[in-house]
Amino acid sequence: MAETDRIGALDPTEPLLLSGNEAIARGAIESGVALVTGYPGTPSTYVIERLLKVPERRFRVEWAINEKVAFELATGVSWAGLRSLVTMKMSGLNVAADSFLSVQYSGTRGGLVLYVADDPNVYYGMVEQDSRLYARLAVAPMLMPASPQEALDWTRRAFELSEQIGRPVMLRGTTTLANTSERVSLGKVQRIEREPSFEFNTEKYSKAGPRACVRQHQEALAALDRFTDLTADLNTYCLNGSRIGVIATGIPWTYLQEVMDRFSVRPATLKLGVAHPLPEETIKRFLSGLDTVIILEELEPLVEEAVRALCCETGHPLRVIGKKEGPLPITGDYNVEIVSAVLREAYGDRIPSPDLPPELFQRSEPLKVGRLNTFCAGCPHRATYYGLDRALEKLGYRKEEIIVTGDIGCTILGMNDPFRSCWTEVSMGSSIALAQGFKYAGIVKPVIATIGDGTFFHGGIPALINASHHKTDLTVIILDNHWISMTGMQPHPGTEPSTPREDLRAIRIEEIVRAAGIEDVCRVNPYQVGKMTETLARAIRAPGVSVVISDAECAIQRMRGRKRSHLRVSSEKCVGLDRCRPSCIEALACPALDRDENGKARIDPALCTACGLCHHVCPHGAI
Ligand code: SF4
Ligand code: SF4
Repeated sequence: MAETDRIGALDPTEPLLLSGNEAIARGAIESGVALVTGYPGTPSTYVIERLLKVPERRFRVEWAINEKVAFELATGVSWAGLRSLVTMKMSGLNVAADSFLSVQYSGTRGGLVLYVADDPNVYYGMVEQDSRLYARLAVAPMLMPASPQEALDWTRRAFELSEQIGRPVMLRGTTTLANTSERVSLGKVQRIEREPSFEFNTEKYSKAGPRACVRQHQEALAALDRFTDLTADLNTYCLNGSRIGVIATGIPWTYLQEVMDRFSVRPATLKLGVAHPLPEETIKRFLSGLDTVIILEELEPLVEEAVRALCCETGHPLRVIGKKEGPLPITGDYNVEIVSAVLREAYGDRIPSPDLPPELFQRSEPLKVGRLNTFCAGCPHRATYYGLDRALEKLGYRKEEIIVTGDIGCTILGMNDPFRSCWTEVSMGSSIALAQGFKYAGIVKPVIATIGDGTFFHGGIPALINASHHKTDLTVIILDNHWISMTGMQPHPGTEPSTPREDLRAIRIEEIVRAAGIEDVCRVNPYQVGKMTETLARAIRAPGVSVVISDAECAIQRMRGRKRSHLRVSSEKCVGLDRCRPSCIEALACPALDRDENGKARIDPALCTACGLCHHVCPHGAI
């Protein structure tokens, strides 16, 4: 049986090579989950992607319109007594936070596990936030696995704990855990047969007045205490008489093991599997025999602060090496070299000075090879921004005088060369209200908001209604490429299913726009450069909110399974890239366009999607 099928096996016989994300997916299956939902956001995306590939599922798995909706779906399942897993990246937790905090106070029935994946060193974009702070804010218990095996085992455990304490349990991963693979021993799949039910209890399931809210808070705190008692085995320490100790959480624990083996150093160790609440009594016992403690935790110094506070409380004169006093930065992720360098602070020359670049502690490093961070070859967004530039030219505006707000997803690549169109990037769906704010501030010239289709569904709709309600002069360009592309082509509510499905309905964006009271809405193919330019120019001049839906499928998805054709450059007609201003490469930065040995343009047939945009751009008719 192929490994893609074995992840769903009822009675596994041998270990499987699984990434952290796959292990969490398997953990959910073994826990007899009824629903898995979430919103795509790397590094968490692959849990659901993987589950969608499991044949003959006994559970429901689907993408939700955003993280808040996903969390609420999962809560409904839990409140009816069944188990649910909800997944998101760290910034998605900001979106889900309103309901997450509320439900954390109310409590749950069926096990509810919230998997959130942080991205130290920001490999995938957005804020380098530490979700452990949310656990503290929400009075929420949080586990932090250090390996794919733990990811599987602790997903199962998290479901059990959630039902034992009657609260959602957070499972925190990081990019490294999500993508690291190892052979993982599987367990049996639990069959959970429960009749869904619900009781009328507004004291628990609503925020029915201050008395109920305060009581819910007290109960959430009491649940945390129970959680601490139930998870003592997940915080393991080894006291071996050494006066030097290391406390490690998550993936840095595995780096520590490697450094200890490599340099034969044996500090006392405390591995914290519970990120919140921290097991204070365990930490105190661990520290009591030490002179020096090194703290390995990526991002915020939460364990370090707790250790320093405990030392103050007990009067223990301990040397604490971490982020506040020590070489470790708050930003970035760790690796074996960093952990070696930190242990050298305590062990001196027993650990040779690693050959560290000076910027080691100042990650992220710049790319070794310079390249433009731009759209894929043939991407329709390139054509949209090209059309926008032409429209502004046509209206007599200089690019620097027209504010264009950007949004999350592939569309934001319009902020980079050669377009430099988008001026801002804040959060999912923020471009429209930001643009409205600029108009409220008194910007007289046109203000334009750009937003992708998935992002529009996720968070843009309320802002569009708000702008329409206030009759603000604004142009919104919705770049509709039919998919949530940046995270690997997930569908959104506007995506047509590849084969008709009775249980799904694709939602037309213009229906939503018109329902918001906006009559000035049209759909245009951005590769039709002339028509796109005309349409945008007219929309920008129009009063009130005007919406242009730039409609062409993501080039990556469009080319899948299709025979490639490509455009060619006529070397007779091409005058040479240095004599052409702007050249096709300067104007579009399409990765398929290149310079040949004679300084003329050439097209890489392996990359070109024959979108035809460069044909419109070349003033000499060479393409
Ligand atoms: S046709 Fe031109 S712009 Fe389009 S993918 Fe090919 S080289 Fe790039
Ligand atoms: S993935 Fe699709 S939408 Fe994103 S840049 Fe590439 S072609 Fe454009």
